[in-house]
Amino acid sequence: MDSHLAVKNLIQKYNEKEILNVSDLEVKKGETLVILGPNGAGKSTFLRILSLLEKPTHGEVFLSGKPISSLSDKLSVRRKMVMVFQEPLLFNTTVFKNVSFGLKVRHYNKAIVKARVENILNKLEIAHLAGTSASKLSGGEAQRVSLARALVLEPELLFLDEPFAFLDIPTKEALMEDLTKIIKERKLTVICVTHSRDEALAMADKIAIMDGGKILQIGSPEEVFNFPVSESVANFVGMETILEGEIVEVQNGLLKIKTHGQEIEVANDSKPEGKVLLGIRGENVVLASFNKVATSARNKYKATIVEIISLGSTLKIYLDCGFPLISLVTKRSAEELELEVGKTIVANFKATAVHVIR
Ligand code: ADP
Repeated sequence: MDSHLAVKNLIQKYNEKEILNVSDLEVKKGETLVILGPNGAGKSTFLRILSLLEKPTHGEVFLSGKPISSLSDKLSVRRKMVMVFQEPLLFNTTVFKNVSFGLKVRHYNKAIVKARVENILNKLEIAHLAGTSASKLSGGEAQRVSLARALVLEPELLFLDEPFAFLDIPTKEALMEDLTKIIKERKLTVICVTHSRDEALAMADKIAIMDGGKILQIGSPEEVFNFPVSESVANFVGMETILEGEIVEVQNGLLKIKTHGQEIEVANDSKPEGKVLLGIRGENVVLASFNKVATSARNKYKATIVEIISLGSTLKIYLDCGFPLISLVTKRSAEELELEVGKTIVANFKATAVHVIR
């Protein structure tokens, strides 16, 4: 895959204070990078620089390998990029007029405008709202219109700044699913910033954890969630195992999923196909001694303890079962089980404890 957007030795200062310091980052064509971090981490500042809305104090942004400063036609570069913000900024007119605005500014003829607008309204499931005034839309509908207005321009690069922050969970989940479909269909390169782990997992091919203006770790969701490089990343990504798997069997509410050469059974009423992303919360992973296991849990694995981290009254146990697994246990049960790094035990979790993220 080719590099689409990259930065080198980037520093942004406001009033002499360093807000951002990213020595190296690359996003490949067709990839969705989610920049995940707490409020004030510098995410929005970074996004403004990547989308060329703001110039950095030092360093350079590269588009398809070329430094932006060397490109003569800046307007055509900008036209490949669109940004969608947290709050939909809509004109007080119909949905159709809102969505067609950008194409009209670019002097497309009426037939093309109509076809493109109708296409994107359909894709975002808001075709029935074409004649509705933007002032009458719900929050979720308004954000769909805002995305339609961006996507109708057929950008190559889409920048999203906390676009789901104000939406309730079902509205957000439906929108993320529809948007991800469009992103993959159109092979868009996407950079999304958010403070929400759920949003990052729902969207990302790659996750960059940002704090204090720096990227602390970058990798696949599996890498970042299961193998955090530092305690601060571990604290931020939480207590969940994330696994990439492939569906091998679907029957009566039970899925068989292959991951790292092992099988996991998952209770799930939907019928997903192909690749899936799974989440297992640490508190649902039960440990037992290797020689006395009696459990009805479907998923039972021989596991080696890789690392033990104390979180006060609980311990976070990193396990290797052929696939990585995180378990949370109380200090007391850890003592009873005589847990220590290198020891072999049995880890199990119920089929209902695994959720299919996407
Ligand atoms: P995030 O998007 O992760 O919440 P921001 O990029 O908005 O973080 O902000 C990072 C830091 O930079 C914050 O401390 C913020 O106050 C500061 N900051 C952002 N924009 C400006 C600005 N234009 N002038 C001065 N300080 C700013």
